[in-house]
Amino acid sequence: MQTPQATGAHYAEFYRRSIEDRDAFWREQAQLIDWHTPFTTVCEYGKPPFANWFVGGTTNLCHNAVDRHLATRAGQNALVFVSTETDEERVYSFRELHAEVQRMAAALKTLGVKKGDRVLVYMPMIPEAAFAMLACARIGALHSVVFGGFASVSLASRIDDADPVVIVSADAGSRGGKVVPYKPLLDEAIRLSSHKPAKVLMVDRGLVAFERVAGRDEDWASLRQRHLDEPVPCEWVEATHPSYTLYTSGTTGRPKGVQRDTGGYAVALAASMKHIFCGRAGETYFSTSDIGWVVGHSYIVYGPLIAGMATIMYEGLPIRPDAAIWWSLVEKYKVTVMFSAPTAVRVLKKHDPAALTRHDLSSLRTLFLAGEPLDEPTARWIADALKKPIIDNYWQTETGWPILTLCNGIEPQRAKFGSPGRAVFGYDVKLIDEATGQELTGANQKGVLAIEGPLPPGCMQTVWRDDARFVETYWKTIPGRMVYSTFDWGIRDEEGYYFILGRTDDVINVAGHRLGTREIEESIASHPNVAEVAVVGVADTLKGQVAMAFAVLKDGAKAATPELALKHEGEIMKLVDEQLGAVARPARVRFVTVLPKTRSGKLLRRAIQAVCEQRDPGDLTTIEDPSALQQIVKLVSPAA
Ligand code: ATP
Ligand code: MG
Repeated sequence: MQTPQATGAHYAEFYRRSIEDRDAFWREQAQLIDWHTPFTTVCEYGKPPFANWFVGGTTNLCHNAVDRHLATRAGQNALVFVSTETDEERVYSFRELHAEVQRMAAALKTLGVKKGDRVLVYMPMIPEAAFAMLACARIGALHSVVFGGFASVSLASRIDDADPVVIVSADAGSRGGKVVPYKPLLDEAIRLSSHKPAKVLMVDRGLVAFERVAGRDEDWASLRQRHLDEPVPCEWVEATHPSYTLYTSGTTGRPKGVQRDTGGYAVALAASMKHIFCGRAGETYFSTSDIGWVVGHSYIVYGPLIAGMATIMYEGLPIRPDAAIWWSLVEKYKVTVMFSAPTAVRVLKKHDPAALTRHDLSSLRTLFLAGEPLDEPTARWIADALKKPIIDNYWQTETGWPILTLCNGIEPQRAKFGSPGRAVFGYDVKLIDEATGQELTGANQKGVLAIEGPLPPGCMQTVWRDDARFVETYWKTIPGRMVYSTFDWGIRDEEGYYFILGRTDDVINVAGHRLGTREIEESIASHPNVAEVAVVGVADTLKGQVAMAFAVLKDGAKAATPELALKHEGEIMKLVDEQLGAVARPARVRFVTVLPKTRSGKLLRRAIQAVCEQRDPGDLTTIEDPSALQQIVKLVSPAA
């Protein structure tokens, strides 16, 4: 498979066609899925920036993920559920998955769900969550999955936004061996929300006792029993029929409700499984994300199944019972493609790398990582530990599938540390000068990463119920031109590889020099005793802005005394001086035991920045650990 002489020219031609001969290109890719009736128009772009893909065609996501495989692989694994929280392991073949999804679809119909209705899924990582998603797709209802780690207030706002007819939930989740009851949080959220769902469908895992609201709460086990053998045919929907809504992570502010279509999404996922992930039918895919995030939607549930692969759904921590757990699953289920996030690798990094190779990893071809910048020390550590190719990929909840990566299915390409790779087929990626709106065509120029419309298939159709917000938020931020802004800042080298420098609002302007927080963080992270670091720009009367760094040391105890903290601060400043120059040197380096992150593991820089500038930190509904921000509040309060 490896062709060392590959130049990237073959991929360049594939990419060029996807942009310049767009409709022909996507007509071909559309053959990767089943259509009930063929489409008449590949792309309708009469009212930019709203794009309609595969107009006139009808299809169904559930049919493509499940039913169409029955003829050839009914007995093969489809869904593998492993929980190290409850010590369960259940394997569903495509035939069994098909039966379970129909039972769930029948239950939802009985509860009054019709085509176009919303069903909110507030679930731990259990198979019933995937059944619910696929069942919605089957009957043409929209799912709105809310990450199970969210509490009442975040959940209530999403209930109001989605207006669900039914909420599917469970008695409890479990994290690190601790049972987290869901039902009281859900009841409280419904009390807080102005919209009230007609029914709540409860999956009882037997983890905790819970109260049932008479007339509203229904039991999955008994409904399932009633519909054991009831066939529920797939509802053929227009390609443009919305399949789901999902919220962004809320790293930069109030989360945005992304609305996705059906046909374009199925085609984009099928194409990405083939050309990016190189997953083949009959193999096993393991994504360590959660169904509450976009990676879980695209690459735990839909993508692998559409490709005829088995998908692993894992409930638990990467290090419990020990750091070998994920890799034992790779061995047991002969995983060929794996997908995780840098934040998970940083967790593993605190453990002995030998744990990763205690098991036979010979089936594994590639580990894909996405979600946040993959810094070089982390990339090297995991590549050395696994001795497998690591592929970074850059995308957003909005796009649903990668924007930048290496499409090794077309042609094996060399990875470069620090770069997620080249523009993915279908994405007309541009770097734009923020101030002038001019496209930057030369190599090594810094600009805003933008996408020329139409967005390719699979990307967001609009902001749920808010077309104006879609246009204003994404398409009107760059002066003088209508182009989709990613709000990330990047650079492209002479070979077309992009490097993400940080979010546009993370650029620091020190005495007229524009610096990416990411560049400074990378430099600080190369200090041997730094495990993690966040850099923010803080208003300064003299210089405009200065950089402030908050670091977590590998051995937290070493910063216990003020003398040691001072010593580390000095070393870090010297390091930045040497690597980037004095202008990038943080004005202060402070030490904390944990950094404030979203539930999906992303740094909440804007909250840190607000606290440093004595401002209100804003929407914190997606924060993982509020005490992390409190540590910073204490460190920067004028009294400190
Ligand atoms: P919000 O939009 O609500 O502020 P968010 O942007 O964190 O939250 P997501 O859609 O989950 O929500 O994350 C997408 C963002 O994550 C990208 O815009 C980028 O900033 C970052 N990101 C994702 N993958 C990568 C990657 N491989 N390298 C660098 N950054 C990445
Ligand atoms: Mg975003």
